[in-house]
Amino acid sequence: MDIKLEKIATLTAPRYTSYPTAPMFRPSINGETFKQWLGELDEDASLSLYFHVPYCKSICLYCGCHTFATRKVEPVLEYADTLIKEIELVAKSTKARKVKSIAWGGGTPNMLSGETFAKIDEAIKANFDLSNIEEHAVEIDPRLLNDGHLKAFVKAGVNRASFGVQDLNDHVQRAIGRVQPYEQVEKSVNKLRNAGIDAINIDLIYGLPHQSVEDAINSAHLSAKLNPSRLAVFGYAHVPWFKKRQRLIDENALPQTDVRYDQLLGIKEALENEGYVSIGFDHYAKPEDTLSKAKLEKSLKRSFQGYTSENADALIGMGCSSISTLPQGYAQNNPEPGAWARGILAGEFPIVRGVATSENDKKRRDLLDRLLCDFEVDLSQYGGASNFAPSLSHIQKLVDEGIAKIEGDIVGATEIGKPFVRLIAQYFDEYLEQSGGKHSRVI
Ligand code: SF4
Repeated sequence: MDIKLEKIATLTAPRYTSYPTAPMFRPSINGETFKQWLGELDEDASLSLYFHVPYCKSICLYCGCHTFATRKVEPVLEYADTLIKEIELVAKSTKARKVKSIAWGGGTPNMLSGETFAKIDEAIKANFDLSNIEEHAVEIDPRLLNDGHLKAFVKAGVNRASFGVQDLNDHVQRAIGRVQPYEQVEKSVNKLRNAGIDAINIDLIYGLPHQSVEDAINSAHLSAKLNPSRLAVFGYAHVPWFKKRQRLIDENALPQTDVRYDQLLGIKEALENEGYVSIGFDHYAKPEDTLSKAKLEKSLKRSFQGYTSENADALIGMGCSSISTLPQGYAQNNPEPGAWARGILAGEFPIVRGVATSENDKKRRDLLDRLLCDFEVDLSQYGGASNFAPSLSHIQKLVDEGIAKIEGDIVGATEIGKPFVRLIAQYFDEYLEQSGGKHSRVI
């Protein structure tokens, strides 16, 4: 990696899973605003539902999520009961019923027992119309998967499962406090497939302690052996001042920037050789997967799950910390389970922040989607290059570094610049200065 590129690789930029980005969310968007937004949705609006489960059996040292460890069943059961009340509250507040997709994330959704998962699923079915659902996805910890889960998933119509694999080398797994041997992941994948749940997603992480370039490539090859339909590859973000649990990670064992870059390129080469299509800057998919098809049709989008081919009219997030994306804007639930539950039990939406999106914001979001999904955007679709003079003068510096290209109205990343595309995108963000600089490294 040359020195110029090494410097650029340590720069930070938003991931643009929303626009405006989360630092622009304000407390002026509250439960009342959200209730009004839900009430304005058309009867025919298609919905995507997201359910957040914030609990895990134990906490992995690298984890940047807002999660809570518990070995008790009571808090999880109470949480599930409140989630059912939230489903009823949402259904009471909107005429929209048609669900296109459901996703469960966390934390660890399979901290819920199969029986509890089935109870929540019944509440969803009692309140919404799932007759045309296209996707029902659950994030799974293979260390906790049991037959009760499988039975409940099949009954609920789950058709996609995501595994946080991260790395498949024993010494790296020990260093990050998450030991789950390949055989354990393979066994869980086989159980799901035998139950008819075919679509498997795998998440990998590079930049982990004691992880060499060969380790990262080995994890990619082993993961491909499991034949997942999608993989997501993230760079480890070491922020011990923000996530105390990361203080237990040996900083001296973290790979330097040049190694991180080689890991990223090594994983990309390994997965492409295994037949995967590269999607945006951090996803891979089988050619027949909907993400690959959306890439060809240039209809991919950014969402809280990274890249998505989905196009529901509204995403409603339930559970603490979850974020809803409605045509009117974004709204986030209270991240603390206790405060979230108190709100729901009082019959109120526990929204703590959000942002209304203007028509101009929506156009910018669309522009950013094209750049981050297709690696180039045609500015003639957005009023022409002359409308973006300040953005282009910043991007010109990246052109000089060999990262970006400007050809008339077409602005994008060069081949070498693709992993750095977020650095180009940020110059189209009208709130970049206001939103502050705490973003993740591009590599
Ligand atoms: S990585 Fe997953 S299982 Fe581990 S603490 Fe974070 S959310 Fe829980």
